[in-house]
Amino acid sequence: MTSLIMIFGATGDLAKRKLFPSLYRLFSRNRLEKFAVIGVARRSLTNDEFQQSVKESVRSALGNKDNLDEFVSHFYYQSHDVADSSSYVSLRKFANQIDTNYDLEGNRIFYLAMAPEFFGPIALHLKSDGLTDVTGYKRLVIEKPFGHDLESAKELNKQIRSAFSEKEVYRIDHYLGKEMVRNIEVIRFANAIFEPLWNNRYISNIQITSSETLGVEERGRYYETSGALRDMLQNHMMQMVALLAMEPPIKLTTDEIRSEKVRVFRALRTVEGEEVNQYFVRGQYGEGTIDDVQVPKYRDEPMVDEQSNTETFVAGKIMIDNFRWAGVPFYIRTGKRMAAKSTKIVIQFKDIPMNLYYQTDKMLNPNLLVIHIQPEEGITLHLNAKKAGGHLDAQEVKLSFANTGIHAMNTPEGYEKLLYDCMRGDATNFTHWDEVAYSWAFVDRISAAWQQPMATFPNYPAGSMGPQEADELLEKDGFFWWPVSDLEVDVC
Ligand code: NAD
Repeated sequence: MTSLIMIFGATGDLAKRKLFPSLYRLFSRNRLEKFAVIGVARRSLTNDEFQQSVKESVRSALGNKDNLDEFVSHFYYQSHDVADSSSYVSLRKFANQIDTNYDLEGNRIFYLAMAPEFFGPIALHLKSDGLTDVTGYKRLVIEKPFGHDLESAKELNKQIRSAFSEKEVYRIDHYLGKEMVRNIEVIRFANAIFEPLWNNRYISNIQITSSETLGVEERGRYYETSGALRDMLQNHMMQMVALLAMEPPIKLTTDEIRSEKVRVFRALRTVEGEEVNQYFVRGQYGEGTIDDVQVPKYRDEPMVDEQSNTETFVAGKIMIDNFRWAGVPFYIRTGKRMAAKSTKIVIQFKDIPMNLYYQTDKMLNPNLLVIHIQPEEGITLHLNAKKAGGHLDAQEVKLSFANTGIHAMNTPEGYEKLLYDCMRGDATNFTHWDEVAYSWAFVDRISAAWQQPMATFPNYPAGSMGPQEADELLEKDGFFWWPVSDLEVDVC
């Protein structure tokens, strides 16, 4: 790949923890043929100091490497004020010179690893100050959050689109870089045993859990304006719903896959006003114990209002009113300070018409297909089989495939895959504006209903799986959350 990569926010946490190690991995896999990186941030640094910090971040993520000096020799630094045109003018001159030195064919990637309020102004300056006047491709990579509601997202999109076309905008949803999230469509569309069953005739419900044990940590200021609904549901959870629910695309092209995902969003049942509380549950953690350590409640975290109404947990029932999914609830839950760190999808199949076999003392388990997203990666199929030695007693058996067990050393990091996709011009695993707009419209109705009255928070102790109401959400439909601890994949 041939590209000049300009990282805005190159002294920040994301650049250090994710972007530099991912670029190094691409470099060491020989995926970067001709490349240079210009790191841009406010602080004044020499190229040498910047290269040292890139080395340190690669070392701390991946250990010491022989070819680090060669890798960092491609890195340059420019101190920059994002609001000042003259900064962009000198950046343009510098970029043109690097482009010539490395023969980069005028290909440019602008990666905005900065606070979201800068996204729009930077995009406008890139155009007005001539940085987008290139002979090759120009692409804009934007981190989340893309707005904080539909209106602000529209405004941001307008600013961005005045400088870049939709095809040139790569909106990152780092869940779409995860190996097992990308695997959803392969599992669905490459297996004759699943696709015929993937509908409301055979599936009773789908459960998606993304739980963290960490609290809000030092991100209180940002999180107070976001909450679990905007931070997790609007993007990552909705993307997983779309991948699980979409129709088979006619081709594996970006446009075909995205348009199938958009059709799922168009079929989402609208839930608003008082109805919201029948479909969604919000929570905020109180104090509690995680791994034998006492942890404070959310309202005692730094930079958090002591009367905060911000939710650190959301559970919901999402209905997709189309032919395939009518009547099948997609239950989602996500939260901080929960009992386990786990992202899993459970597809629960309907019971067989008549049970002839029993497990000792209880009914047969339904068949489950579990997709383990993180920390383990794999799939497990839960079946019933004859208990060895027994008469006709059945027992549950699990067929497991653990990705981490086999490919651990080779599984590329999410950001590495996304960066590579962007260089190749493959936007499939980035979110299209239509997806963003539909999911904000969906989420805005929920947050509007939650403005008033204030919630009675905290309502779940740290170290639990969320408030009681989240369990009741399923119980009233005759289901329950499959405990994440019972679903572990056996690592080979
Ligand atoms: P950060 O606060 O650690 O870094 C911000 C960077 O922006 C720094 O390099 C800083 O110098 C630069 N900057 C700030 N104001 C500037 C100005 N006026 N002019 C020039 N440069 C300026 O932020 P971060 O954690 O790296 O996050 C960056 C973006 O990535 C945010 O949108 C965030 O939501 C998103 N994100 C971060 C993570 C993560 O793991 N850190 C994960 C997902 C998304």
